[in-house]
Amino acid sequence: MRTEYICESCGSRSARERITKGSLQIELVLWALLLLPGLLYGFWRMATRTYVCRHCKRNVSPLTTAKGKLALKQFGCKSASTPDLVG
Ligand SMILES: [Zn+2]
Repeated sequence: MRTEYICESCGSRSARERITKGSLQIELVLWALLLLPGLLYGFWRMATRTYVCRHCKRNVSPLTTAKGKLALKQFGCKSASTPDLVG
């Protein structure tokens, strides 16, 4: 089942994009220097990978979470998949 997300800032539900913190070039340099720094940096990048709103680059929350439901009420979005949250 696909999880729906909502932007906590602008209420957009249509678009989100995945961002990865840090830089792939830095990671490759660290890998080239020594094994451990590259491993740690790569792990950090994977751990901090997250989704942001495509419009305003702010946090998005799944509609199933408290934050997501709050944002849904706040922006008054209508949803066919979650009728219990509307109104
Ligand atoms: Zn947004």
